[in-house]
Amino acid sequence: EAALSIIEDVDVKNWKAGDPVPYAALSKTFSLIEATTKRLEKNALLTSFLYLVIQRSAKGDHKSLLQAVYLCVNRVRTLLDIWFILMVPQLSPDYIGVELGIGESLLIKAIGQSTGRNIATIKRELKEEGDLGLVAMNSKNHQTTIFKPKALTLPVVFSGLKEIALTTGHSSQNKKVGVITKLLAACEGVEAKYIVRSLEGKLRIGNAERSVVVALAHAAVLAEKEKAGKKWSKEKLESKLEEGANTIKAVYSELPSYDEVIPALLKHGIENLREHCKLTPGVPLKPMLAKPTKAIGEVLDRFENKRFTCEYKYDGERAQVHRLEDGTVGVFSRNSEDMSKKYPDLMEQLPNCIKDTTKSFVLDCEAVAIDRTTGKLMPFQELSRRKRKDVKVEDIQVRVCLFAFDLLYLNGEPLLKKSLAERRELLREHFEPVAGEFDFAKSSDSETTDDIQAFLEQSVKDGCEGLMVKMLESDASFYEPSRRSVNWLKLKKDYLAGVGDSLDLVVVGGYYGKGKRTNVYGAFLLACYDSDAEEYQTICKIGTGFSEEALQSHYDTLKPLELTKIRGDIKAGGAKPDVWFEPQIVWEVLTADLSLSPVYTAAQGLVEERGISLRFPRFVRIRDDKSADDATGPEQIAEMYSSQALAQSKGKKKGGED
Ligand code: ATP
Repeated sequence: EAALSIIEDVDVKNWKAGDPVPYAALSKTFSLIEATTKRLEKNALLTSFLYLVIQRSAKGDHKSLLQAVYLCVNRVRTLLDIWFILMVPQLSPDYIGVELGIGESLLIKAIGQSTGRNIATIKRELKEEGDLGLVAMNSKNHQTTIFKPKALTLPVVFSGLKEIALTTGHSSQNKKVGVITKLLAACEGVEAKYIVRSLEGKLRIGNAERSVVVALAHAAVLAEKEKAGKKWSKEKLESKLEEGANTIKAVYSELPSYDEVIPALLKHGIENLREHCKLTPGVPLKPMLAKPTKAIGEVLDRFENKRFTCEYKYDGERAQVHRLEDGTVGVFSRNSEDMSKKYPDLMEQLPNCIKDTTKSFVLDCEAVAIDRTTGKLMPFQELSRRKRKDVKVEDIQVRVCLFAFDLLYLNGEPLLKKSLAERRELLREHFEPVAGEFDFAKSSDSETTDDIQAFLEQSVKDGCEGLMVKMLESDASFYEPSRRSVNWLKLKKDYLAGVGDSLDLVVVGGYYGKGKRTNVYGAFLLACYDSDAEEYQTICKIGTGFSEEALQSHYDTLKPLELTKIRGDIKAGGAKPDVWFEPQIVWEVLTADLSLSPVYTAAQGLVEERGISLRFPRFVRIRDDKSADDATGPEQIAEMYSSQALAQSKGKKKGGED
């Protein structure tokens, strides 16, 4: 049914098998997905569309499905671009890191040019609607056209978007407006709405990347079933769909490159996918993450009767180091961004720690600022003073030391399914420490409370955030890409002080300052991110503890992100900042306490109908290694609220007994 409703509006006769996919089919899918709030329906619609794409693609054509998936996750930059540049470093153009996210004013200009409407009218309408996509669609639909434009197809839209994202340098703005204008001129129906939203960097249809991956798996299972002419019972079909989704999720977190996964999926089938898509140096995998714990007792409870190790939790930046067989080296951030240009010194240092027996590898490390004369580690703030791009080794003031805590690939073999004990042994065997440049994460395998306590205190004295406690043996110690796993626990000094884990929140609004601070924002509105609903939920206002310099610097960063009107995917509740921002900047924030709130919308409906808010929030640092989509989610906030309530009620009970 879902498939039928998608093709109903599309001139099916024009979408013959082997033809390029009409953009009308994709935009129709988007509008149907946007119109429903039901998750299962959203999934069925997307599955149907991708199924149609597979069915109608010519034999051997994987491009159609690839482009369809890229447009659904709204990305044009492929990780393969990075890989290619790693392979051929002398070609390194400057476009790495460019993603869609075209500024409002540029888009308004293009809408004006393609529809003949004046800029002031478009701006006025945007103020009323709060959605430039909708304004673009309305503008198109009011326009009378003499010639029916040639229907847009996925390859045309995809290459247009790619061109826009990759255009840099002299008169790039005008070139971008030119390409956007051309695309908009060819739009019909709802197409302009989604082209503009794609360009803005957010589709806002409530469909996170995770759902696209699941829909891709479901579509592949259905297409394979159809091809083989199999008849399955409802139960069998359901279990095949679930199995398929688990396979693609696992494969994609190990090899997050649609360019690799999709052709393999179409060629070898979903059941054989794991065999053909494995961790590959050059393609950064999604890092494993840890769960917070509040006390050593909790660690011992969780890891009872299991062997585990405690490692220093270094206070730096995650660095995934890849080396290809030919010696090419790359460093990637937590978000798979290429950091080779930020850390040319690391690139220079690396060969010193690699033994002759070590050819290709993937290391999981933390890059930490270090004082080379004293050997002392310095806090993250020092590291964040380094320039982010085009760093020259001779200008570097803040040196870094790499602390390796895991080895994920060695000499042609992925190690994810080896125990941590084995991986650690291989790590120590194939690399060697170099003072001030490279070391293994300091660890202690003792399991007594006193020893853990002493090791924790020592880690803090040595400039670390606390400990990471990890399972050491059996399959529970396998490396789990992209998972926040219970097999890795973090024990931070802040938790022990009773402050709790920090939150990573998106700055969505600003309040003008008073007195001396009228030229800058004096306070900020923060939000968490619900990746299922694809919306930002407001959580608190933060305005104390900023120095004059800090306020000026935040102003300089945030001013260009000011919006004409609140974006449709920000759930404001009762919050009324003076200005709204494009959700882009992430701050790490600590709080004394969480409370229910009639004003803010974070985690509404999870604990109670009211939202949850932070009391006395305190700014810790800018998290430029996280994008807005990586911000803390509402479930985590609800969990923090509930465990705080539990601790308080236990405390009261204990008090009563005393
Ligand atoms: P945060 O870094 O604020 O705790 P996060 O979401 O980035 O949050 P977590 O899973 O909470 O990540 O903590 C793991 C992070 O700690 C890793 O991403 C890494 O950067 C850092 N780290 C430092 N030392 C280690 C270590 N020995 N093992 C694993 N991660 C470490």
